[in-house]
Amino acid sequence: MAERAQNVALRTDFSLLIDGELAQSGQHLDVVDPALGAVFARCPAAGRAELDRAVAAARRAFPAWRARPFAERAALVEKLSQILRERQGTLAELLTREQGKPLAQSVAEIDRGAAQSCGMVGIEIPVEVIADDADKHIELKYRPLGVVGIITPWNAPVNLALGPLVSALYTGNTAILKPSPYTPLTTLKLGEILNEIFPAGVVNVLAGGDELGAAMTAHAGIDKISFTGSVATGKKVLASAAATMKRVTLELGGNDPAIVLDDVDVKTVAKKIFFASFVNSGQVCMAIKRIYAHERIYDDLCAALAEEAKKAKVGNGLDPATELGPLQNKMQYDKVVGLIEDTKKAGAKFLAGGEIPPGPGYFLPPTIVTDVADDSRLVQEEQFGPIVPILKFSDVEDALRRANDTRYGLSGSVWTKDLQRGAEIAARLEVGTAWVNQHRTTSAFVPFGGAKESGLGRQYSVLGLKSYMEPEVVSVAKR
Ligand code: NAD
Repeated sequence: MAERAQNVALRTDFSLLIDGELAQSGQHLDVVDPALGAVFARCPAAGRAELDRAVAAARRAFPAWRARPFAERAALVEKLSQILRERQGTLAELLTREQGKPLAQSVAEIDRGAAQSCGMVGIEIPVEVIADDADKHIELKYRPLGVVGIITPWNAPVNLALGPLVSALYTGNTAILKPSPYTPLTTLKLGEILNEIFPAGVVNVLAGGDELGAAMTAHAGIDKISFTGSVATGKKVLASAAATMKRVTLELGGNDPAIVLDDVDVKTVAKKIFFASFVNSGQVCMAIKRIYAHERIYDDLCAALAEEAKKAKVGNGLDPATELGPLQNKMQYDKVVGLIEDTKKAGAKFLAGGEIPPGPGYFLPPTIVTDVADDSRLVQEEQFGPIVPILKFSDVEDALRRANDTRYGLSGSVWTKDLQRGAEIAARLEVGTAWVNQHRTTSAFVPFGGAKESGLGRQYSVLGLKSYMEPEVVSVAKR
């Protein structure tokens, strides 16, 4: 565990939210500022007793909450969105301190979370009439599941909480939200806001370690788990949920390919690809993690991306000039340092970055690498950090085969001036979302989720909302 920052008062103004009350507990979590590599805050941590209280409260609140019309629940979600915008400044600063991302990107995360989740509340889930004739009337209805447990990772704690939370609440479920132990603070502050808006027990927020997540997935009083995190943990969640037949949505890791064809305007495309690879220092599930470049533009694209990397300002996210912050935690920093060292040993060419700066803080420069083998760790694994390989191809079929040669399938993109050809190639990527001339674009109305081991189910859109509900057929014999 990191040392405490010298001469800095520890922030301790955090509470759990259980049954409409802001609560403390007998345990705590120390939270590290990744730009300093030092503890700057302490918050209460929930154990089994707090979880049981939260589950009981959420179950008690469920009947009255589900009985409210969609429009009433939607109005409260809209209020949440409005308050998030009003208090964006203080929330964003806290998010930057615990997560590390530049302040402007913390503001963008809160904005995006508020807009995208609030955008869902206009979506209708009508009763579907399957048959209606002289003999019978058959309809398909959707009803809420009950209590939804939401477990989030450390890379975008606000945005990744709001999507599932709003989906659960809008569709009439109650919820228990657990952030990552690395980034619990902004979520606990979100809990204070939720407590101003929603009736007691409808939303409960519990900070806690991995064991709290495991207890949630095993808890008989929770009906669904919406989990965002790594593939390895996702598999544990799925196995544990089986015992109580919980519904699950799993949003897991990615190893997104970008295929760049030979007709692109290299300078324009390089800027967009650089941002989609390195935003949040590469700690984004749907960041571009492998770049396949056609041999005719390969050298130019390598040079343009290296130039972008060398220009990018790495530093403390609170400094307005900073474009890339630190890695969020020591474990992830060590993992990415290990990848850089392995890639060096394998003889790859470093066009930018690659050096490990002295501390404090978990900083690494944006690193662009070529001459990497397809079976190297950097190409095969999800790096989740600021190092990206560029791989050369001459034949699109070969690029597609290599892009699809992975157990991941979150998203991917194709870059070309020929939109129809781009869409045809994109459709052959084995992913949940295939973009053309863009990457990371999501919306309230468009389903998002992973193919293969990148996940199960979809968030957002009518498809995502229905996954927080049980379909029920009502079949009436007319004679
Ligand atoms: P992680 O799997 O280590 O942890 C995620 C959450 O799960 C944390 O809250 C953690 O406490 C909890 N947890 C740990 N063990 C658990 C268990 N046995 N049962 C239940 N919960 C448990 O992931 P992370 O390192 O925090 O996040 C990074 C990963 O998340 C990356 O792989 C990234 O790609 C992925 N991610 C996916 C999406 C998406 O939408 N597909 C979005 C963001 C991040």
